[in-house]
Amino acid sequence: MTNYRFRPAGLLAVAALAASVIACSPSADRDSGKTVVLTTFTVLADMASEIAGDRLHVESITKPGAEVHGYEPTPSDIRHASDASLIIDNGLGLERWFEQFVDDLDVPHVVVSGGVEPIDIASDAYAGKPNPHAWMSPLNAQIYVDNIVGAFSDLDPDGAAAYRANADEYKTKLQDVHDDLVAAVAGLPTNERALVSCEGAFSYLARDTGLTERYIWPVNAEQQATPQQVGATIDFVRRSNTPAVFCESTVSDKAMRQVVSATGARFGGTLYVDSLSTDDGPVPTYLDLIRHDVRTIVTGLTGSPTHDR
Ligand SMILES: [Zn+2]
Repeated sequence: MTNYRFRPAGLLAVAALAASVIACSPSADRDSGKTVVLTTFTVLADMASEIAGDRLHVESITKPGAEVHGYEPTPSDIRHASDASLIIDNGLGLERWFEQFVDDLDVPHVVVSGGVEPIDIASDAYAGKPNPHAWMSPLNAQIYVDNIVGAFSDLDPDGAAAYRANADEYKTKLQDVHDDLVAAVAGLPTNERALVSCEGAFSYLARDTGLTERYIWPVNAEQQATPQQVGATIDFVRRSNTPAVFCESTVSDKAMRQVVSATGARFGGTLYVDSLSTDDGPVPTYLDLIRHDVRTIVTGLTGSPTHDR
């Protein structure tokens, strides 16, 4: 397949070009002839779809269950992306592969975390770098949404009013989810408001809710869970008498199982952060993801059984 390259100027030209590419495109969805927007991971694809409505075709480069930090794009990803009109990435250092990826492409991209107040990572090799998981706060997700509206309105000015209306509706839902999660955590006894997870992905959610956050490693990487990291987590759980610990869906929970057997804390369940599930799984949307995590955390900490594993 020819490696088509184009700039965003001239949507008619883009549409004509997209139509000409369809014949050799493996994606049946593109038969709609809609302008294609790609995101780096599933959470952003869901948010962007909420704003796009039926005006744009939104798709994630990484698939449900994929680990986004250290993803290695395939030649087919690059071919697929070369006929997109816009790529949306999280930024804040989340997608370590992304800079090279867009350099090879010549497709415009928008960083959706622009305007978020970053929280710096406190420990290990990442100390002082921004924590990339800003979407784990529904309030930050509202900022993401405004950035998506701006990007879509530049791409398709005729749709600007529709994007704004979709965004307003979605932001109300985000506010409701935020209010619910603050209320749910406020219902926990103060000595149980500790969230111990594998990856340090909950700093923003912890800031929103008043949870104390602890984790085994700060950011998912190839090498995970040194004995020191596991030991420090065991110390914390013992000292604070934390009743339950958790791990995320895209990584192995082996190290956290060590913490469980060393401390007697419960394994409270699987949390979703870096990826949605497939449609038939527990978190097919971002709103589901936040609701699922809060329910898992609260039931885990209070000792009610969870049925996630
Ligand atoms: Zn992560």
